[in-house]
Amino acid sequence: MSTKYVYTFGDGKAEGKADMRNLLGGKGANLAEMNLIGVPVPAGFTITTEVCTLYNQEGKDAVIKLIENDVKAGIAATEKLMNAKFGSKGEAFPLLVSVRSGARVSMPGMMDTVLNLGMNDDAVKIVAEKSGNARFAWDSYRRFVQMYGDVVMGVAAGKGEHNPFEVEIDKLKAEKNISNDTEFSAEDLQELVRRFKIVVKTKTGKDFPTCPWEQLWGAICAVFDSWMTERAVLYRQLNQIPEEWGTAVNVQAMVYGNMGNNSATGVAFTRDAATGEDIFNGEYLINAQGEDVVAGIRTPQEITIEGSRRWAKMQNISEEERAAKYPSLEESMPAAYAELNAVQQKLEDYFHDMQDLEFTIQDGKLWMLQTRNGKRTGTAMVKMAVDMLEQGMINEETAILRLEAAKLDELLHPVFDKESQSKAKVLTKGLPASPGAACGRVVFFADEAEEWKNRGEQVVLVRLETSPEDLRGMNVSEGILTARGGMTSHAAVVARGMGKCCVSGAGEIVVDYHKRSFTVKGVTINEGDWISLNGSTGEVYLGKVATTEASLDHDFRTIMDLAEKHTRMYVRTNADTPRDAKVARDFGAKGVGLCRTEHMFFEGDRIDAMREMILSDTVEQRRIALSKILPMQRSDFEGILEAMDGFGVTIRLLDPPLHEFTPNEPESQKYMAEKMGISVEVVKEKVDALHEFNPMLGHRGCRLGITYPEITEMQARAIIEAACNLKLKGFNPKPEIMVPLVGTVKELRQQANIIRCTADVVFAEKGVKVDYMVGTMIEIPRAALTADQIAEVAEFFSFGTNDLTQMTFGYSRDDAGKFLPEYIKKGILKTDPFAVLDQEGVGQLVQMGAQKGRSTNSKLKLGICGEHGGEPSSVIFCDKVGMDYVSCSPFRVPIARLAAAQAAIMHTNK
Ligand code: PEP
Ligand code: MG
Repeated sequence: MSTKYVYTFGDGKAEGKADMRNLLGGKGANLAEMNLIGVPVPAGFTITTEVCTLYNQEGKDAVIKLIENDVKAGIAATEKLMNAKFGSKGEAFPLLVSVRSGARVSMPGMMDTVLNLGMNDDAVKIVAEKSGNARFAWDSYRRFVQMYGDVVMGVAAGKGEHNPFEVEIDKLKAEKNISNDTEFSAEDLQELVRRFKIVVKTKTGKDFPTCPWEQLWGAICAVFDSWMTERAVLYRQLNQIPEEWGTAVNVQAMVYGNMGNNSATGVAFTRDAATGEDIFNGEYLINAQGEDVVAGIRTPQEITIEGSRRWAKMQNISEEERAAKYPSLEESMPAAYAELNAVQQKLEDYFHDMQDLEFTIQDGKLWMLQTRNGKRTGTAMVKMAVDMLEQGMINEETAILRLEAAKLDELLHPVFDKESQSKAKVLTKGLPASPGAACGRVVFFADEAEEWKNRGEQVVLVRLETSPEDLRGMNVSEGILTARGGMTSHAAVVARGMGKCCVSGAGEIVVDYHKRSFTVKGVTINEGDWISLNGSTGEVYLGKVATTEASLDHDFRTIMDLAEKHTRMYVRTNADTPRDAKVARDFGAKGVGLCRTEHMFFEGDRIDAMREMILSDTVEQRRIALSKILPMQRSDFEGILEAMDGFGVTIRLLDPPLHEFTPNEPESQKYMAEKMGISVEVVKEKVDALHEFNPMLGHRGCRLGITYPEITEMQARAIIEAACNLKLKGFNPKPEIMVPLVGTVKELRQQANIIRCTADVVFAEKGVKVDYMVGTMIEIPRAALTADQIAEVAEFFSFGTNDLTQMTFGYSRDDAGKFLPEYIKKGILKTDPFAVLDQEGVGQLVQMGAQKGRSTNSKLKLGICGEHGGEPSSVIFCDKVGMDYVSCSPFRVPIARLAAAQAAIMHTNK
């Protein structure tokens, strides 16, 4: 059977359906499904994502040949259903189409769209004549030249310049003394078409194409090309979307929101994407086409009366003025609104999730152009899942699986300190586009935001409006402020996706890119000045406003309880202080997976005792030095064991190379020489002798304990004494002593002997016993390869995937930052392997270590304490290989708990 490349839809029928999103893209699959469930959708067809992959492999000409007949058949089917003719010479109403991208997952604003395709000097006359609306015909034409010129022919603004088409629009407005696009006459728009064509010719050296078929192939290829543009590649990197997925192309008959004052276009959400409240909301514009709503050129109106009143209140607009100038759709087109309201309910019920809709009303008739699961903030994500669960729309498993674990982060982020906020000067107010608090120095250009950030500055990006080119700059900014655009503008949608604070449509600010400043109510803010944004209220403040930690609400706790119910693995934390351990315990951590004891050697004057130990010549001298450190370590351990009372606490013996502790400055060498009563020369010699060419692979980890067993003995004593002291006070301490950087079982055996002997001595001294364990990190490839031997001595393994990644790839943890970004950019690596576990390579060693370990010790406890323990996809992998727990930094504990529950559900369902 030959492969099917084109799927048609229209008039209640469709060749595709919702579960074909991999092939048809999200948009194409849902357009098909909407047809099937009786929602009014203009006819059209979808070219599959497979064609995009072929396009990238085999090139344009081969692909056009391959799908030419199918595309022609698709156009013919659309012509029939819409009763129109593509390239009409007057025999029928011209068929104009939209050409849009649509990947498997939505990539808002990333891919290009062309509307009104098929328009030319013939079509415009017929449209004018047959519709009886010349203004509408010429408006459609000028939009087409502008979009096609931009997207397909590459007409673009230079840095700091305005879009050349917008410049022409502004010029003509000035000439005609009008302020709104809607005031242009048909003749004005005809003039714009003429001027736009000149812009195209001047900028590209090419004439604007008049043949509809040439236009269509140009647009289809432009969509495929847009899959590989820098901004799309970057978006995919940020969101971990594989290149091979490709995008589909949707070619669909146009319906017209710009046909007059009984026409409109808009976008809507079935629930509030920012707060999660179950409130239908959205924005629309009368006599406009879709891109006007998102481009932020005109400020859109609200769909519901309730939303409109709330908006007016925020803008300080009276009810009379609102009703007269900015009525809601509910008021201005009640019949179309009622139909839209019914459709939105139907779609949410059908897809069991919040929908993000695009619609057009053509001469009073409603058409749906898109439905998809809407992007949402972390707060909204949690609220919607809990509400839908309570409303009986979804079950517990779906509620958990639907959550994006990494997005919980937003709920844990700081908000403005109330008092500091009440004292701060409000400069102006825009729309609360993406919640949270941000504070930074003003910059006006996205590339400069990156430069500033690289210099270590904290910035807020201020723009008239943003476009996909600004993505990189937005990503590094603390927050984004725009002068134009609504809640669905590019800035708003993208910032919400990034979980970044954004205030959009702050209409009172006047941005001057040349002077690099903006003014508001007589106050001028220059580049580099500090401002603060409240993305939850839309307020913009002068200067810095202090922030406080977020408070976690009922919905968050409900989700965490659900996660608890469904999880198999539990979550521990990496904590070196009692305070961190307490924070993590509040977030639901059940124990400490890694306490790095070396951090404790740097506090106060402990370093002196440590240096004395290193510079000592004899075991006795070393013991004296270590005995000074012992009580300090013991009190550290007591604090942590107490904070995690009843749960396991894995304390790792000293890990880093000794030279990290040596006195390297002449001053400190002199100080140590005096303190120890030896010469500076001797100190210097010892320091030089400890120098290593490759410290990461040098004298560190258990190698220290092997060469200086006194260190292991002292640490084991401090841990066991701490536990005994607590036990005597009525606590239930559960220490787990972990030996780092083991590569052979003999290393572990020697260290374990010292630990166990020391414990016995302490138990005898204290007259009390505690349960404790001895185990090891698996962080050297050889340890994973010989895990069966090691597990005969170890009671637990904790995978140290930081070092394991370093040693498996051979990438230095300290230096990889210099080349990894290039590796990711060039597609050699998909993600940074120090952040996201490389399941293909390093993962094999983890899996082997787990299997081999359990093969000789079935009770072996398994966990992970590398950075990957808080990264959702790695957590899911850990569940798959049968770990008992993952351990991560305190603020990632909720994320790991959710990911662990998701993993359990996914692996059970399988
Ligand atoms: C590891 O190597 O993964 C680990 C947790 O230890 P550290 O990062 O301290 O080397
Ligand atoms: Mg390590």
